[in-house]
This record gives sequence, structure tokens and C-alpha cells, in this order.
Amino acid sequence: MRVGVLALQGDVREHAEILEGLGADVVLVRLPEDLTDIDALVLPGGESTTIGKLADRYGMVEPLRAAIRRGLPAFGTCAGMIFLSGSTTEADPQVQLGVLDVVVQRNAFGRQAESFEADLAVEGIAEPVHAVFIRAPWVEKVGQGVDVLAEVDGHPVMVREGNVLASSFHPELTGDDRIHALLLAMVEEA
Ligand code: GLN
Repeated sequence: MRVGVLALQGDVREHAEILEGLGADVVLVRLPEDLTDIDALVLPGGESTTIGKLADRYGMVEPLRAAIRRGLPAFGTCAGMIFLSGSTTEADPQVQLGVLDVVVQRNAFGRQAESFEADLAVEGIAEPVHAVFIRAPWVEKVGQGVDVLAEVDGHPVMVREGNVLASSFHPELTGDDRIHALLLAMVEEA
């Protein structure tokens, strides 16, 4: 299985290591042609406005949108989730793919708790997931057809809509490969 990791900005290497540990071949995706031969795509966290700007500069916005709309299984973490979604609660627009029907609130957990860890019950995973949140968004509004897979204090932090999976937290930072395994299972399903 060939899994792309969007390598414009953010914690690319950590995702690549988890995916390789699961037996996938990792392709670093920077240009439209890098999308042609992959079975799934990971969109790492970082800073979503920067990722959007770089995607725009490299001519990646339409190719990414088209590939995911065609059914490419995709998994976005944190800023990757924001980039996948259709809008944020902020007034300033930013470049987003609009392939996940949710509204996100950026940096949602407040200043005093900008970064925290929590053990989360995640639908489809038997034992709790130790989740690391770093200036994380939550999902403010969920469209029809979006399943909420995990919540913190009633706010969705992991969702799935068809071939698109997204989490507010960073499973690549804890050495836990179960969420990435979900993405690979989505490839088998597809
Ligand atoms: N706060 C960042 C944003 O709004 C996301 C942080 C992250 O990806 N860890 O884009």
C-alpha cells in the first residue's frame, strides 16, 4: 500500500514513521503529480493558514480536492483537519479544501489549556486512545453524513465522513498506530 503524507509543513516525519511501521510505503506529497499513485493520504498538523498558503502556491488545492472527492481515503490531524474542512468560526477566510462537512473552531480549548492530553474513547477502537492536543481545534458544527467518533466535553474531536477521517489530536506523537490503522482499513474497504 502506498500512502502519501502531505509534506508542505508540519510533523511529516512522525506520520511517515507510523505508516511505515504498519507496512505502508510512504510517498511525500508536495506537487500534484505526487498524488497520482497513492492509495491514501495523511494531512499532518502544523499551522492551517500556512498549509493553505503553501498548497495554493504549489498548485495543490484543486488536485487535492479532486483526488479526495474522487474517493481517495484521507486522514487529517489538527491543522490537517482544519484544512480538510469547509469553514472555521473565524471571520478571516483561509484556504480550505471543503471536503469534510464540518465547521471547526481553531485553537478552541482556550489559552490556559492550549496543550493537554486525555484518554479518549474512540468509536471503532477497543481500548482508550491517549490523545495529545496542541493548540487544537474542535468541531463546532457537524454536517449530515458526518459521524462523530470521539468527543472532549461534548465537543467532537474526531469525525469521519465517508472517505475522510479527521482528528483534532495528534496520534502520530504517541507511538499508537491504531488510528492510522483505521485509515489503512478504509483503503481495504474502498
Ligand atoms: N492551531 C493550529 C491551527 O489553527 C493547529 C495546531 C496543530 O496542528 N497542532 O492551524
